[in-house]
Amino acid sequence: PYDVLVVGGGPASASAAIYAARKGIRTGIVAERFGGQVNDTAGIENFISVKRTEGPKFAANLEEHVKDYDIDVMNLQRATGLERKQDFVEIELENGASLKGKSVVLSTGARWRKIGVPGEDEFRNKGVAYCPHCDGPLFEGKDVSVIGGGNSGVEAAIDLAGIVNHVTVLEFSSELKADSVLQERLHSLPNVTVLTNAKTTEITGEDNVNGLTYIDRETETEQHIELEGVFVQIGLLPNTDWLGDSVERNKFGEIVVDRHGATNVPGVFAAGDCTDDPNKQIIISMGSGANTALNAFDYLIRN
Ligand code: FAD
Repeated sequence: PYDVLVVGGGPASASAAIYAARKGIRTGIVAERFGGQVNDTAGIENFISVKRTEGPKFAANLEEHVKDYDIDVMNLQRATGLERKQDFVEIELENGASLKGKSVVLSTGARWRKIGVPGEDEFRNKGVAYCPHCDGPLFEGKDVSVIGGGNSGVEAAIDLAGIVNHVTVLEFSSELKADSVLQERLHSLPNVTVLTNAKTTEITGEDNVNGLTYIDRETETEQHIELEGVFVQIGLLPNTDWLGDSVERNKFGEIVVDRHGATNVPGVFAAGDCTDDPNKQIIISMGSGANTALNAFDYLIRN
């Protein structure tokens, strides 16, 4: 078996694998698609010490750094199950094979839930955005909307209101779902409009986003707003369904970890966007990947 078997190939996984390999222990990475979410990212401006880079370049750098070490990279392999055996943890793969690890780091990441309307894919990174921490500053002084009135949507709107000219929040149901303290904060801001009963039907544009069409479900009329950015905030889905009940997950499906990145299963650790860590960013996933690898090493020398 591997000493540390990392499941996933994003920033958290790369960091966990490099930290493990630097201990001189047998390390493997099994990934469905090496690079993870950064493959789909345009500009990255908040990876501290690198002023600006592009997602695909960042992903290539991750891979190059991993290849600098004695790490077995098994790319294009999907994990479908986990089982704790007597002396090791078994990871089953879609192709029918299985891999063994004395310890395992789960870092299968997450994906943004899409609204699935025309224009969403076409204008991705051309006005359609999902991460306010990442892309908010690109819309300085512009008019934007936030789709989704839950906690993440309302937090995003409050955050964006400090940067952009105006924010329109569109909520499908008849009221916002966010905590009341967030709603109060939102309503206190002068440059935010809240639309409830608003069903977004299309994101419009030519080269870039120029507006959004929605149906006012109360009056059943179609409305159009002119704006330059649309932040979709209807949920971040962790890639953890494949774990079933083998590892404890919270109601959002996120893997529950402690300060050491340990899960409820001995020898199984988790890092990055697939965990219940509230903040999902590259630099944070890398920190947690490093943290879990060091704690997995500690687990190995004690067991
Ligand atoms: P991920 O990057 O999601 O990687 C998960 C990995 O696991 C992938 O390799 C995937 O193929 C693999 N995997 C999934 N399921 C399985 C399975 N069953 N078996 C095997 N492998 C599996 N963050 C920033 O800090 N700055 C930014 O500017 C920024 N911009 C972003 C823009 C966009 C459009 C998006 C989508 C995200 C952005 N983020 C940004 C967030 C950042 O990309 C994530 O926080 C970060 O990639 C999380 O890393 P991770 O390793 O935890 O997971």
